[in-house]
Amino acid sequence: MAVPSLEPQPLNDASPASTATSSCFCGAVQLSFPIEGPDLIDVFLCHCPDCKKLSASLFGAGIMASSSSVRILHGQNDLATLVKPDRASSGGSVTNTRCGACGTLMHRVSSGFPGITVLRAGTVDDVRLLETELRPRMEMFTKYRPNWLRACEGARQLYEQTDGSDGSEIRSVIVSHINE
Ligand SMILES: [Zn+2]
Ligand SMILES: [Zn+2]
Repeated sequence: MAVPSLEPQPLNDASPASTATSSCFCGAVQLSFPIEGPDLIDVFLCHCPDCKKLSASLFGAGIMASSSSVRILHGQNDLATLVKPDRASSGGSVTNTRCGACGTLMHRVSSGFPGITVLRAGTVDDVRLLETELRPRMEMFTKYRPNWLRACEGARQLYEQTDGSDGSEIRSVIVSHINE
């Protein structure tokens, strides 16, 4: 009988960046996305009026990832899209992708930021990640945050999305990513 080797097994250096999954309320749709490396661009809270409506709650929580790194694990045929003007940032259009069965918003892609997919933090399956890799780094449109809700500790605070209204702050994040 072969004796099992006690030699340490080599780590698989070729493995891609760590990923996590997100899924909708009914479970029909599940996505995979990176939680490290350059494909994870930013994690943010957004208090803009659109995020309030879209979440049917008080703010949105987004995970910005390069679109090429986001995979649909199952539910491709259940996805439904809604294209609307992107009032919050670029002035272009934004494609909102939901589970067609239960309505959970899974991600958004703005024409102003091609190649970037914004997943919704509330759909992340492993909620512990929201305190570690997926802890918010930026909080936007704080001018719409109710005055009884405190700022997210450690997150860069933006009164709007920018210091002005031209999207420069968010653009600089994305341009630096694209130019890497
Ligand atoms: Zn669903
Ligand atoms: Zn927003």
